[in-house]
Parts: sequence; structure tokens; C-alpha cells
Amino acid sequence: MKKVDFHSHSRFSDGILSPAELAAKAEAVGIEDYFLTDHDTVSGIPEALEAGEGRTVSVHGGIEINTNRTDQLHILGYGFDWRSPDFLSSLEEFRRRRVLRVEKIVARLRGQGLDISVDEIQALSYETLGRPHVADALRRKGIVRSRKAAFERYLTPGKPGYEAPMGPSPLEAIRLIRDAGGFASLAHPNTLCDWSEFEVWVKEGLEGIEAYYYSHSIGLINRFVETARSHGLLTTGGSDYHGPPGRETRLGVEVPDEVHGRFMERLARCSPCRS
Ligand code: AMP
Ligand code: ZN
Ligand code: FE
Ligand code: FE
Repeated sequence: MKKVDFHSHSRFSDGILSPAELAAKAEAVGIEDYFLTDHDTVSGIPEALEAGEGRTVSVHGGIEINTNRTDQLHILGYGFDWRSPDFLSSLEEFRRRRVLRVEKIVARLRGQGLDISVDEIQALSYETLGRPHVADALRRKGIVRSRKAAFERYLTPGKPGYEAPMGPSPLEAIRLIRDAGGFASLAHPNTLCDWSEFEVWVKEGLEGIEAYYYSHSIGLINRFVETARSHGLLTTGGSDYHGPPGRETRLGVEVPDEVHGRFMERLARCSPCRS
């Protein structure tokens, strides 16, 4: 087995640590290949790459694009040209829509009598804004005790502060990564409720499934390894680490040597490779 991490977040989106702190931590826990995959931004990548120099861990840039699907369908991207102007302007648009979503969430929460503002939420993120920042603002005010509690009480479907995500469709996200020279993997596949379009995504360029997700049981891993095998896809592995004091996750996951090898071979075929 190999220790890797193809999925993690910094404070440029909804993580707690800086990209440099993550690179140092990745080395400390013995990771071989580490990817920073912030939500809808690549702004943390230069700092991560710089901090990765001269370490035993290889540090790479990636992304996680949140789609418009309400079942948390997120697409991970690797090996793309993160300086591509088209790619960057699409991300900017997704982040703009995230602000609109947070404005709607705030209006709902204020309608519930909560004293909360967009400005104080905006101050909690370096760049990408999302529900976790709303949760953090509620926690700071003592309205809830944790991010998790904020999600459960206010921010999930059916709860008073919920607004559907306004990101791209899954196909748009996959094509965007492909058009920038990279390849896409389906993040935390167990959150998906609707698989009816899966064959279309594969046809249009989805190349991997995150079978080795930190919270997956052996049974779930086997199920998604089989889904990947039957569609000729790669499997990927990630911790979805957001840093303390969020969810109790740790950096790094164990994957079979072959999973790591096939993934790195695919990455090496990206042109131009900017990871
Ligand atoms: P958003 O991008 O605004 O839709 O928020 C999605 C992010 O919120 C995910 O990527 C997770 O980091 C986080 N998240 C989702 N559900 C929960 C939960 N139940 N508790 C804590 N964090 C969550
Ligand atoms: Zn996140
Ligand atoms: Fe995700
Ligand atoms: Fe994530």
C-alpha cells in the first residue's frame, strides 16, 4: 500500500490550514504524492508548490469543482493547466455565483431572526465562499457549537437556511477540466443519489472514481472499485481534509501501489502538465 492524498482543502476555500502548512503536514505524515484540491479555486497552488520544494512528499495542484446537483456531486480535476484563461474565468464565475448563494442563505437565516451578515461571512475565507463559512459565522456567534451542528440545523436540504448550489452541471465541470488538459474524477461517490447520467459523464471524459475516500468502508471501496473496473476508469484516493477543528479527518489515505502507479502515469500524460 502507499500513503497518498489526492483530495484536500486549504483556507483558500473552506479548509483551515494554509497551503504551506498542508505541504509540511503531508511530509510529516509520510505521504508520497499530495494534491491541494480547493473548491473552485487554484489560488493556493503556487504557495503549495513552493512549500513542497525540497521535501520527501511531491506536492501537486488540483481542484474540486462543486456542481449544481443537490446530492453534493463534486468533480476533482488533476493535471490541467491552472493558468489557462478560460479555466480561470469559469472558476471566477462559479465563485461569483457562490456569493449569490450565500446572500440567499443569509436572507433566509435573517428571516429566522438570526443576526448574521454577508460581510462577516466573507471575512472568513481567503477566496471561495461556501456553506462552511456560514457555519463558522454561526459558530462564532454561539448560535451553534460546530460546523456539523450548523449544517444539521440550518444548511442541509429541508432546513431553514438551505439554498441549492449554483455551480456548473457535472458535464460542464468535466469538460472544463478536460479542455484545460487535465482529467476528472468523481469525488466521494457515495453522496450521489442519482447515477442515471453516469454513462454520459464517462463518455464525455470522466476518468476516475474516488473509491478510496476516507470514510468509505471496505464494502463501499469494493463497490466503487468494481464500478471503476467495469467502466475502464481509474480509482483515486482522498482524505477530504479540511483541517482542525472541523470534521475529525486526517491527512492521507492508503491505496494499493497499483492505484497510485496508474494515477501518476495518467498525470504524466497530461499536456501541458502543470501539476
Ligand atoms: P458548499 O460548497 O457551500 O455547498 O458546501 C459544501 C462543503 O461543505 C463540503 O465540501 C464540505 O466541506 C462541507 N460539508 C458538507 N456537509 C457537511 C456537514 N454535514 N458537516 C460539515 N461540513 C459539511
Ligand atoms: Zn469543503
Ligand atoms: Fe466535496
Ligand atoms: Fe472536498
